[in-house]
Amino acid sequence: MNREGRGATTAHSLALTGPETFTGNRALDLEEGLIFEIGRTEVTGVDIAEPAPFRDRLGTQARTAPLDLPGLSEPEAMRHYVRLSRMNYGIDSGLFPLGSCTMKHNPRLNEKMARLPGFADIHPLQPQSTVKGALGLMAELSRYLLELTGMQAVALTPKAGAHGELCGMMAIKAAHAARGEGEQRHVVLVPESAHGTNPATAALIGYEVRSIPARPDGTVDPEAVKAALGPEVAALMLTNPNTCGLFERDVVAIAEAVHEAGAYFYSDGANFNAILGKVRIADLGVDAMHINLHKTFSTPHGGGGPGAGPVVLSDALAPFAPVPALVATTDGLALVEDEGADGAEQALGRMSAFHGQMGMFVRALAWMLSHGADGMRQASEDAVLSANYIRACLMDLMSAPFADRPAMHEALFDDAWLAGTGLTTLDVAKALIDEGYHPMTVYFPLVVHGAMLIEPTESESKASLDLFIASLRDLALAAKAGDKERFLGAPYYAPRRRLDETRAARTPVLRWTKPAPVADAAE
Ligand SMILES: *Cc1c(COP(=O)(O)O)cnc(C)c1O
Repeated sequence: MNREGRGATTAHSLALTGPETFTGNRALDLEEGLIFEIGRTEVTGVDIAEPAPFRDRLGTQARTAPLDLPGLSEPEAMRHYVRLSRMNYGIDSGLFPLGSCTMKHNPRLNEKMARLPGFADIHPLQPQSTVKGALGLMAELSRYLLELTGMQAVALTPKAGAHGELCGMMAIKAAHAARGEGEQRHVVLVPESAHGTNPATAALIGYEVRSIPARPDGTVDPEAVKAALGPEVAALMLTNPNTCGLFERDVVAIAEAVHEAGAYFYSDGANFNAILGKVRIADLGVDAMHINLHKTFSTPHGGGGPGAGPVVLSDALAPFAPVPALVATTDGLALVEDEGADGAEQALGRMSAFHGQMGMFVRALAWMLSHGADGMRQASEDAVLSANYIRACLMDLMSAPFADRPAMHEALFDDAWLAGTGLTTLDVAKALIDEGYHPMTVYFPLVVHGAMLIEPTESESKASLDLFIASLRDLALAAKAGDKERFLGAPYYAPRRRLDETRAARTPVLRWTKPAPVADAAE
């Protein structure tokens, strides 16, 4: 912590009074306009010969006015996208402390494997006899997922965690319908600390969502679950470890109560990376759980990138798994495509057009194979160790709820430590940007006031954790010393300063409109 107490205020005030540059650039950080602003319609980076006379079949649909697409020369186009990419922040540029997201390093080996032509260049409509290797990889991935969870069946097709939740909850709905209790069981219990996708999923397929309050210690009380259970309850959805980074220590009692009431136990497995190789979730009484391959088993995600959310199912729910189902036949592996066909008699339907995210399957299996059983266990142990290290190193300056016991994979702070400073969680997050970090998750989970949720994962070195901790300590000291300006104006150094985030979300401007010509504007 030898960076504490340096005369940081002087440095930042100086920067604030530095000259506005003529170009808008700041040294080698370059401003970049939209391609519509910098492009010229008469320019193109390619030189294509005029097409030979052809028969125009567009008729009255043919465009009469020019399309006005902006053009750039080839080097200009290259610079445009490289400059934009430099404004981006990703796990490959620095520590990405978002909690509830698991931004971990994606080894390049995974990328190399995913680009093998036998995986990258195949088409979902190819005859199955020509993709036996890909089917073999899916079977191997399934075997690993079942071994790691102890569950009975796995559906690979869901394309994200939330999609996996939908799949698992549809399996639960199908199971109740098969028992003739589909109508009667119309309620799903969701603890108030749940990820927003849980209640959203239940509501999407027509369930009424009933909230279960958290205990003062941040976990779910089996007695509160029992009190809420009844013949109208279809399922309980529980995230474990939960979004406060805590292991639900009464999970077995909760599962038993749920089963006794004839309901199913859905476990949100997005935080599986905290217990991978340590806990067989089948032993906890789970009936369905999605696994975010893009969180637990590396692979890049965020910004809407591809994900994969396979769902593991218990004995009771396995028959309802969606098609296509991967089955072993005398001719080798095959995908059963039709509901009702042999091997998919009670299938709930189809979650996606084809077999799922092949690229993600390859990356996840590459990660599993390169780690091995001991490596996967160590990854979860190190992820938990890193989170607890961060919490322990910051607890004297920042306030951490539920700190009477170890955290799992996330370090959670509230805003009590900011009392009297005139600053908020948001101000701290913005100041962290100036220090070169993506902010942590803020104001989530909702059950913690002004929450700051930090998930370092196992892929940060101790040196990198120490630097991050030192940066947060510096900020905490500055906040307590009354250096408000540093926070309230932050970020000072980002290409854009404080945005009106509410307006951006509510009334986004998604279409560029050409400014009126100067002459018109002057009238
Ligand atoms: C990330 C996450 C989800 C949703 O997963 P997506 O792949 O983003 O759809 C659900 N629950 C929890 C606890 C999560 O962290």
